[in-house]
Amino acid sequence: MNIHEYQAKAVLRKYGVAVPAGSVAFSADEAVKVAEQFGGKAVVKAQIHAGGRGKAGGVKLAKSLDEVRQYATELLGKTLVTHQTGPEGKVVQRLLVETLSDIQKEYYIGVVIDRATGRVTMMASEEGGMEIEEVAAKSPEKIFRETIDPAIGLKSFQARKLAYAIHIPNELIKQAVAFMVGLYKVFVENDCSIAEINPLVVTKDGQVMALDAKLNFDSNALYRHADIVELRDLAEEDPREIEASKFDLSYIALHGNIGCMVNGAGLAMATMDTIKYYGGEPANFLDVGGGATEEKVTEAFKIILSDPGVKGILVNIFGGIMKCDVIANGVVAAAKQVGLTHPLVVRLEGTNVDMGKQILKDSGLAIVPADSLAEAAQKIVELVK
Ligand code: GDP
Ligand code: MN
Repeated sequence: MNIHEYQAKAVLRKYGVAVPAGSVAFSADEAVKVAEQFGGKAVVKAQIHAGGRGKAGGVKLAKSLDEVRQYATELLGKTLVTHQTGPEGKVVQRLLVETLSDIQKEYYIGVVIDRATGRVTMMASEEGGMEIEEVAAKSPEKIFRETIDPAIGLKSFQARKLAYAIHIPNELIKQAVAFMVGLYKVFVENDCSIAEINPLVVTKDGQVMALDAKLNFDSNALYRHADIVELRDLAEEDPREIEASKFDLSYIALHGNIGCMVNGAGLAMATMDTIKYYGGEPANFLDVGGGATEEKVTEAFKIILSDPGVKGILVNIFGGIMKCDVIANGVVAAAKQVGLTHPLVVRLEGTNVDMGKQILKDSGLAIVPADSLAEAAQKIVELVK
């Protein structure tokens, strides 16, 4: 789960991690009110769940209250297209108004879980403000890493090592170490999957602060962080994905035209790969889970069909715990209920597969059966052409 920058900064503040003073604003009036506290000089920042706002005109430096009002009015309601939003962009509904920082230098600090070591790793670079992926590609020697032992946490000597490596000024090393130790604590105590500060800045008056903050949370651990769940902004999420989560379906919208309904994440990935292999484009990832009941299958059909890009559907279900005849009944009932008119290819495999196929055949619906995944993928790719 993702949250806004202003919310991430509030979490950091709670842990004593330095961030500039500022508040969220939902209107130009509110933005001006916040900026009054800073004598009119303020940064007005679009709050969307995507980075790259600076380059896209979503971060404005205002020198007066009039400018704050002007920028706030301009940004609110605007669709901001950054390299992370996709071409459709995201509508700005909230702003962060912050005191203007006088930047000496920008750095990068990130905390992630390194899959190779299976450990939390802190990364630091003096190439702040830039895409870390770009730094990693062009000058990997400029990224420093410390692997953190989960039993003892980030030790101050490790933080010091990073701070020296990225050339934090000597007199500010202590501040930088406190920052890193605090950031690690935020990461671990809140079950983050990413904590990224880009840029971390050193200001001309000798402060070390997070000028930007991105926190992502492991959704599997959200049950123990009610305070974090409250920060969820549904306006930032795909409405179909929200609907799917209500029915315990894992749905991710994609840009193709073949809707997929599969049980099991691995099988869903394989199905998408196979569709692509035969020249098609999946419209979604959808895992209906272990209990592919009629109700779930019906909801899954509805969600797939609410995507106007969908031109056909491929159902690929393995009947293990749930038998194929039960699934076939579910598919038939669901297809009838939603009045399905798109081509539908169904591949069933597993327990009672013959009964399942017979049910599809007897349904009177124009369901195209397939015996293998390859055959199913080829058929649906052909049908949506
Ligand atoms: P992002 O582009 O979405 O990652 O947004 P950031 O919060 O990282 O802001 C982008 C850039 O705006 C930063 O790298 C800074 O260079 C600049 N910026 C943001 N806040 C301030 C500020 O208070 N003072 C100055 N001078 N620049 C700022
Ligand atoms: Mn940034």
